[in-house]
Amino acid sequence: MSSLASGTGNSWVEGANDPAGDFPLANLPIGVVAGEGRGLRIGIRIGAFIVDCRALAASGLLNRLDQTIIDALGGQSLNAYMALGQSAWRSARAEFTRLLAEGTADLRDHPSRNSIMLPEWGMTTKVPCEIGDYTDFYASVHHATNVGSMFRPDNPLLPNWKNLPIGYHGRSSSMVPSGTQIIRPNGQTVTQDEGPPTFGPTRLMDYEMEVGALIGTGNVIGEPIRIDRAMDSVFGLLLLNDWSARDIQKWEYQPLGPFVAKNFASTLSGWVVSLDALEPYRIPMPARPVTDPQPLPYLRWSDDFVLDVNLEVLISSAGMRTSGIAPTRISLGNYRDMYWSIAQMVAHHTSGGCNLRTGDLLASGTVSGPTEDSRGCLLERTWRGTKPIQLGDGTERKFLQDGDEVIMRAWCERKGLPRIGFGECRGVVMPAKPI
Ligand code: MN
Repeated sequence: MSSLASGTGNSWVEGANDPAGDFPLANLPIGVVAGEGRGLRIGIRIGAFIVDCRALAASGLLNRLDQTIIDALGGQSLNAYMALGQSAWRSARAEFTRLLAEGTADLRDHPSRNSIMLPEWGMTTKVPCEIGDYTDFYASVHHATNVGSMFRPDNPLLPNWKNLPIGYHGRSSSMVPSGTQIIRPNGQTVTQDEGPPTFGPTRLMDYEMEVGALIGTGNVIGEPIRIDRAMDSVFGLLLLNDWSARDIQKWEYQPLGPFVAKNFASTLSGWVVSLDALEPYRIPMPARPVTDPQPLPYLRWSDDFVLDVNLEVLISSAGMRTSGIAPTRISLGNYRDMYWSIAQMVAHHTSGGCNLRTGDLLASGTVSGPTEDSRGCLLERTWRGTKPIQLGDGTERKFLQDGDEVIMRAWCERKGLPRIGFGECRGVVMPAKPI
């Protein structure tokens, strides 16, 4: 582990040393928050508190950092800070680690401490930056094989799939923060493959458990990012629920890919976890089976890696919430099961000269594992509705019903290391608007 990796020590902040918590000193994810009469501001999450970066900057406690970093952290959006690049992120992270560590009194004993350290329960997290372009990949071999085999039993993976990370360009306009209600979309669906279609609420409302990578520093158009430099451009990771209407998708997706079935909403978790915090959980990219094509040279990097992150999906029906019944776990997968890495996505995305920009979001596609209970969407988990899942209130789900809340969580844990988590990504499905 490099010296740049997260600290593993204790913090003086309440809740930070809870072994079951998501936010120890070793994590320090960053986001944008509001609440308690305060407008949008950048926050750092630790334990049960959020560090108000603007208030911290005003206190003078960040004065060891360059002024450009202090100014960026005092803003209302992360973009300016993200654009500063990896060395700035690391300087700031090291300074936050120092200020919050057990034994450092600068902030702990500061007269303004109570206006800098805000209890998290009074604040809400927002979309953490102005999202630029959004690209959604399809990088889980288990997901692609499962979905492919439903529609093409004899030929689940098309010949390109193991040679390049498949993706499509989505929209950023409908990215919403965790906690936002999601209105069931209307759209065209068919009962027979050739139509005719009818227009109305989707009957096959689904979620997709995905991990998103936010681009910090991009590239100049025409100058691809080499795979061995690709991770330097990634600011951090967060969770993404790529809500999907499967019946609309089935009718519209050929020949140009998903459209209205996916553009109505995607939910983002509030905290961006840095690659430095995740460094202890890197796993070298497993060698491909000899029967698989090996990546072309521009997609090959000797230090390439996947990340050991547990990914959990739960559902809570409206009735369960009223009755106080705990949400039902639908799946527990792991981000390490990806076939294509983030570095490969960045390298391929820019390989033709396309420029990535600060705030762009590259999402993994549904993360599924090899087992039934690690499948990251209901389409796979219930096998197109043929194997319904029972919720804690005794009702069954093939796809989502109105009132259902989907809760996504993610965390890393290993013996001898503090557990670090991503927090939650939540959304309740609301009835469709009348046509
Ligand atoms: Mn997706």
